[in-house]
Amino acid sequence: MQTWLPAEFMQTSEGKAADAILRSCVHCGFCNAACPTYTLLGNELDGPRGRIYQIKGLLEGSPVTAQTQSHLDRCLTCRACETACPSGVQYAKLLDIGRAEIAKRVPRSVPQRLLRRALRWIIPSTRRFGLMLMLARALRPLLPSAVQRYIPLAKPSGVWPQVRHSRRMLILAGCVQPVLEPGIDSSLARLLDRHGISAVPVYAGCCGAVSHHLTAAEQTHAHIKTTIDALWPSIESGIEAIITTAGGCGAMLRDYRHILREDAEYSAKAARVTELCRDPVQIIEALPIDAAAKGRRVAFQAPCSLVNALKLEGRVEAVLQRVGFDVLPVQESALCCGSAGTYSILQAGLANELRERKLKNLYLAEPEIIATANIGCLTHLNAASQIPVAHWLSLLEMD
Ligand code: SF4
Ligand code: SF4
Repeated sequence: MQTWLPAEFMQTSEGKAADAILRSCVHCGFCNAACPTYTLLGNELDGPRGRIYQIKGLLEGSPVTAQTQSHLDRCLTCRACETACPSGVQYAKLLDIGRAEIAKRVPRSVPQRLLRRALRWIIPSTRRFGLMLMLARALRPLLPSAVQRYIPLAKPSGVWPQVRHSRRMLILAGCVQPVLEPGIDSSLARLLDRHGISAVPVYAGCCGAVSHHLTAAEQTHAHIKTTIDALWPSIESGIEAIITTAGGCGAMLRDYRHILREDAEYSAKAARVTELCRDPVQIIEALPIDAAAKGRRVAFQAPCSLVNALKLEGRVEAVLQRVGFDVLPVQESALCCGSAGTYSILQAGLANELRERKLKNLYLAEPEIIATANIGCLTHLNAASQIPVAHWLSLLEMD
């Protein structure tokens, strides 16, 4: 597609990147069929091709309104459009540029600004999020049952084995997962320990994904740098990999190289973190794990981060199959469940519609359990599911 971006903007790295991405789009519309919001709303402006046009217009200086911003806000950043696109359009990078630009030109309402600020203040801090959850749990019995479902009960953290092997990997804990499901990382640590690999936990708070989704660049960079600083001594001591058990955090770590590419002090370190980052499945599929699950029926909800950002489609299902689970087919498996970071709070109506649709598809083959690979999807689905939802790593300890 032809572009007419302002000369001044074209001098910036964002301008050059946006121009290249816009030019790679041939407006064929193949992406629309893969898009959850286009599927639900049927409006071209709520699909990837329409959003690309709107971003092109706003970057070229056309007038924009709160309505334009709302079409961009409704995007889940699930990146299903990227997977579907035959021209390799890097939609998510363009959306980041478009959202940052429209944020400068269309002020949000005061309640919206306060809500977004509160989310950026609470969620990335394990301590603050933990306190809020503790308070909610204390009030839980007084609340209607429909609200209680959104307050998960406390879970055991499990035993973390001592560091005793020469092979070592880091497990980055992230922000909300240590509070909501502390047992996921220790399950992985025990599994690795049984196969001669010691896992070292790293608690550095948010990886930056929350503020990145909320278009807060300064805070995103600060979180990334804090994470890199926490990881760096172990990286220098020669660890093999950095593992994140939340697919969303894994996708974020993969973007560190790109996000800090112009930072004189951190660009090389960020690139090293991106190089070392692994999803658990990339480690586990190489281990000789015994089959112990004895045909239990599981439906796997593949998070968008795993499929579209990390490009690991089908890999977890293959491991589950290998260890004895009966992995059931899931219709519309590529459609986002609606969690998408803070989306389930900021766009609750659409998020709930997507969740209902996802759960119906997951129930179809009558699973005993639903598995997933991202804390956001797990919590979002569990709040409404009639069947327990667990991280697939927890399933590996079942017999
Ligand atoms: S599929 Fe790719 S090339 Fe076609 S309209 Fe969508 S983004 Fe553009
Ligand atoms: S990222 Fe997901 S929601 Fe956004 S335009 Fe692409 S497919 Fe649609």
